[in-house]
Amino acid sequence: MRFDRLKLNGFKSFVDPTDLVIREGLTGVVGPNGCGKSNLLEALRWIMGENRPTAMRGSGMEDVIFAGTSRRSARGHAEVTLTIDNRDRLAPAGFNEDDHIDIVRRITRDAGSAYKINGKEVRARDVQMLFADASTGAHSPALVRQGQISELINAKPQNRRRILEEAAGISGLYQRRHEAELK
Ligand code: ATP
Ligand code: MG
Repeated sequence: MRFDRLKLNGFKSFVDPTDLVIREGLTGVVGPNGCGKSNLLEALRWIMGENRPTAMRGSGMEDVIFAGTSRRSARGHAEVTLTIDNRDRLAPAGFNEDDHIDIVRRITRDAGSAYKINGKEVRARDVQMLFADASTGAHSPALVRQGQISELINAKPQNRRRILEEAAGISGLYQRRHEAELK
């Protein structure tokens, strides 16, 4: 299971449709300050179900929508599509038939986010679970923010355990148990 393609439309500085093919091996993103490198990583985090605006360097989730410039007007919505290559069949159960999994998240001003997996409308939770079961996701330790290393070093043992659980791929189970206990 690997990320194959990332498409952005109206997301932060990516006002025009942008299609990125992610090749096998190591990918580097280079460019001058402010060209959108961090925005790209935030798009990945966002499509995996990130719901904290602060993790997207915003005060509200609608801040991810292209806000306009002196020459271009603001957009009313933003959309990110992630295509996962599942030919190795390593995606969680339920996707055993699919060579590719398309995940779409769209946010519209005043209407919040909507998600689709392979064209079917789903809840944010379904997308978060897919990634949690695959030992990754918006809070994955594979996504290292600036300042996060020192946070890890200074973290309380309980919080550090949470990071290890995320990496071990069992946080999806905890989430399900928590929901079962609430019912
Ligand atoms: P650095 O090398 O300094 O880390 P970077 O390549 O990571 O830079 P980003 O932080 O990804 O750059 O991009 C910042 C740019 O994105 C800024 O010019 C900012 O104005 C623009 N930007 C962020 N959010 C929006 C938005 N909602 N609408 C329009 N532009 C936005
Ligand atoms: Mg940056």
